[in-house]
Amino acid sequence: MSDPVMFTLDPSEEVTHWYNIVADLPTPPPPPLHPGTHQPVGPDDLAPLFPMELIAQEVTGERYVEIPEPVLEVYRQYRPSPLYRARRWEQRLGTRARIYYKYEGVSPAGSHKTNTAIPQVYYNVVNGTTRLTTETGAGQWGTALSYACSLFGAECEVWQVGASYDTKPQRRTLIEVFGGKVHRSPSRLTEAGRAFPADHTGSLGIAISEAVEMAAKDEGAKYALGSVLNHVVLHQTVIGEEALRQLAKAGETKVDLVVGCAGGGSNFAGLAFPFLREKLAGTQDPRILAVEPTSCPTLTRGEYRYDFGDTAGLTPLMKMYTLGHDFVPSPIHAGGLRYHGMAPLVSHAVHEGLVEATALHQRECFEAAVEFARTQGVVAAPESSHALAQARREALAATDEQVIVIGLSGHGLLELGAYESFLAGRLEDDVLSDADLDAALAGVPTI
Ligand SMILES: *Cc1c(COP(=O)(O)O)cnc(C)c1O
Repeated sequence: MSDPVMFTLDPSEEVTHWYNIVADLPTPPPPPLHPGTHQPVGPDDLAPLFPMELIAQEVTGERYVEIPEPVLEVYRQYRPSPLYRARRWEQRLGTRARIYYKYEGVSPAGSHKTNTAIPQVYYNVVNGTTRLTTETGAGQWGTALSYACSLFGAECEVWQVGASYDTKPQRRTLIEVFGGKVHRSPSRLTEAGRAFPADHTGSLGIAISEAVEMAAKDEGAKYALGSVLNHVVLHQTVIGEEALRQLAKAGETKVDLVVGCAGGGSNFAGLAFPFLREKLAGTQDPRILAVEPTSCPTLTRGEYRYDFGDTAGLTPLMKMYTLGHDFVPSPIHAGGLRYHGMAPLVSHAVHEGLVEATALHQRECFEAAVEFARTQGVVAAPESSHALAQARREALAATDEQVIVIGLSGHGLLELGAYESFLAGRLEDDVLSDADLDAALAGVPTI
């Protein structure tokens, strides 16, 4: 029999619970603080923005949270996502490493974002929310939320980062196909947006401020965030839980390296935290590695401090690696990795030495992604290409039989403009200067 390269799961092996890393961390992560009082935020502070179940998930210490049946039903449209062995790429690299990738590009939105959009909209709708507001950077989150709103019957309003709105009209159209409404951020509809000129290229921080402001103003509206928060990370753990089961089916019980790209940290944590549970329990000892772009080097050059999640300072203060909430990253192609902060849970794990981080230039990432496309047939999202490039480095350096698991967070079929620039030799690597970094960090509150 020939060796299989694709691993799925039987219905009886379905993942029915999300995994909460907080239950197993050696030290508790620092709590979020109220932006005005600097006291730990309570459920009442978050109630204008999120329904009770999500607030409860944000603060829970429970190890496993059951996935509601209506959410499982929608997950079954595209889950389990496949785990592949990248045999052709291994051969091209001439490595002895066994490389697996967990592919989230099969979801309706083409990325892992649907994994949290579905439960977020579900919990909102059962609690009477009729309208959800959000931001989107590259467009994947807006697409995922728009689709989930269409399934559960809620309105969806998306503030899309100006640079992305201007250059990625197809992303906007996809959100509209699923029924969502799109505004260019900074918009004229909010105070947070009007603080910037209308032609400003925008940032995720500004778009978040706009969406939060709108939700806070409207009784029936709530806000949804596509990354960073504990409940988002929780929902994404379906990725890692499936991967562990699929790897077992592939005959792999010990993984040497888990690698994923990190923007706000959710797809990385979703894959990595179930592996971190095994590491903490002593059943496996993988290195766990987050990869970010050199132009938005939150984990590798940011500071571990309390900072706001948005530009206007409307969100709670979170202890995280940050480049400063005023930071506006250069417009690299991996739009989903252009965020000034990092999930507090990922930040904590890095700070405690449980997770490593590294940063790569975009050209190396596209090189790896093109090689991957030519051997595996998958055009990776520019974000995911960071994980591919780092895995490539590790595989080339491996002298023995290593098992590498890559989080391939999405496909790049709507990002062909970026591939075109790369193939034409027009893509530049850019580095964040110390002066720009210091200027951005100067705006972080001192607590
Ligand atoms: C949004 C996005 C990311 C970055 O977000 P995380 O929260 O860090 O996962 C990475 N890859 C893809 C394909 C995305 O859509």
